[in-house]
Amino acid sequence: MDDLLYQVDMLSALNKTYTANEKIYDLILNSFKRTFIYYNPNTSTLNTYGNWDEYFDFKLTEYSDLTRTLELICEEDRENVRNLFYLEKEHRDDEVYVAKLVDNKTFVEIQSVIHYDETGAVSEKLISFYDVTKRQNLKNELSFMAYYDSVTGLYNRNYFIQKLKDFLDRAEKERTIVSVLMIDIDDFHKINDGMGIIYGDEVVQDFGIFLRELLNDKIIGSRFDGDIYALAIYDPAGQTRVDSICDIIKERTSKPFKLTNGSEVSFTVSIGVSEYPEGGTGALELINGAEIVMLKAKEAGKDTIKFFDTTVLNEFKNSIDIENRLKIAVNNMDFYLNFQPQFNSVTQTLRGVEALIRWKNPDGKVISPGLFIPLAEKTGSIIAIGDWVLDTSIRIFTEWKKKYDYDMILSVNISSIQYKRPDFVTKVMSTVNKYGLDPSKLELEITETVLIDDMKTVFEKMEELRDFGIRISIDDFGTGYSSLQYLKSLPADTLKLDKTFIDSAENDNSTKIIIETMIGMSKKLGFETVAEGVETKEQLDILENMGCDIIQGYYLGKPVSDEEIENLLLRII
Ligand code: C2E
Ligand code: CA
Ligand code: CA
Repeated sequence: MDDLLYQVDMLSALNKTYTANEKIYDLILNSFKRTFIYYNPNTSTLNTYGNWDEYFDFKLTEYSDLTRTLELICEEDRENVRNLFYLEKEHRDDEVYVAKLVDNKTFVEIQSVIHYDETGAVSEKLISFYDVTKRQNLKNELSFMAYYDSVTGLYNRNYFIQKLKDFLDRAEKERTIVSVLMIDIDDFHKINDGMGIIYGDEVVQDFGIFLRELLNDKIIGSRFDGDIYALAIYDPAGQTRVDSICDIIKERTSKPFKLTNGSEVSFTVSIGVSEYPEGGTGALELINGAEIVMLKAKEAGKDTIKFFDTTVLNEFKNSIDIENRLKIAVNNMDFYLNFQPQFNSVTQTLRGVEALIRWKNPDGKVISPGLFIPLAEKTGSIIAIGDWVLDTSIRIFTEWKKKYDYDMILSVNISSIQYKRPDFVTKVMSTVNKYGLDPSKLELEITETVLIDDMKTVFEKMEELRDFGIRISIDDFGTGYSSLQYLKSLPADTLKLDKTFIDSAENDNSTKIIIETMIGMSKKLGFETVAEGVETKEQLDILENMGCDIIQGYYLGKPVSDEEIENLLLRII
């Protein structure tokens, strides 16, 4: 009897701890917003625990009803969750998947754990559901920040590059094209300066939002930087063709954008396009290519589309190549001079020579100054080159003077970069003195572009040089500075009519009138007039009749070596 009582006591005590533990389990399960399904196929036990009712509106009584829980999962995740439920099919034992529910806003982390017995058969199965919406939203937000541009909602630069790489991988397999468009708002700084940064940002945003409307699974877009956007089109065809997309963009920018302050802004865009595989195979290479032509589009007067092709590519590679080689050439001074004679149009006597630089490349090719001078101006090596030209040409010229004593003028081209240097005037004077040259025999050819800058200092320098006796000639006259206002007070001696006028002097009547007017005006203002690029007898006659003083050009003499000028001098003295 005592025994029995003891046993009953034991049982009830056990029972108490059981219920206490169960309570704790329940408490845990309920407060963690989880629910579990427990299934044992051997005993056919099927239980649910935790907050079942918070997730499902039916009771799980049959194992086959497990699939009913799938109704809660959004369609795109459903198949994955089904596979998770039946992990045993692939003999896996523990897997987690985060699925979105049909309400499109709740995220549930589903875990499936399976125990197997010695024979490999399922002994127990446990599936848990756990609401992770908060965590998922935070994660999405973080990944949004990592992948998206917060102003426009477009991809940010890094993510765009990553996505473009995906496109390219796919295009390689599917042997198709990917177009990359770099789009830049023209004169954006004017919008920013004119309206303030806040409204500038709004423009950036509005245009970005417009671009977003163009996106789909074949078109990705990014705000790349500031007011530069990028689009990539996979397999452009039909409505996604580059020109169709550009048309849509043009159509949009033809109408103003309305800002929150009620004002309206209009702008155009410049677009550069490169294409895989023709324009490059890597994402960065393509972006670079598109950017290069986008800048070219800007140079070409904005509001334009330019395509990157092999010529641009070669040009670009060439310019990098040339830039490197030019550095070496400047180091070794791999240059020499040609001299082109200038003649009096009436007497046909030699008036002087223009020194023209030549670059002898190690491979024997001669590179045109038209190509490398702008590059030297960009890199700054024009200063060293210009010093060399001035020194060398004056040295050669003074030797001729000593040898042949022929009275003529040396014309030397001066880059605006050189001219702007504060020590320019003293440098010229000291070179003139170094060789004992009569300053009135030296003429500096300066293009009109220098006049665009601070006119006062430009004029002061000219006056200083002229006071010293040096002549000033305005090169390429008629092509640059449009105002004729400055002409009457211009401290110069010579105007050199640009070759483009001479080219059409024969056939184009209005050009003829312009030339005649320029020569007449030049004369009245006391300048000497030089026509350059005279290639035919007809041009020579026309210019002579119009009263042009000096003729320079292939017809009377091409640029030649210093020895050939010596031969010429020998013939005429
Ligand atoms: P530029 O000063 O206008 O020089 C005249 C250019 O026209 C020269 O080209 C000359 O060879 C070319 N030319 C002369 N007559 C004719 C003609 O009848 N027909 C044709 N088609 N062309 C003719 P080049 O020597 O290639 O020089 C190109 C430009 O490079 C020069 O234009 C000048 O701006 C620049 N340059 C040349 N040498 C120097 C230099 O030592 N220093 C600087 N800063 N620039 C230079
Ligand atoms: Ca010249
Ligand atoms: Ca010229």
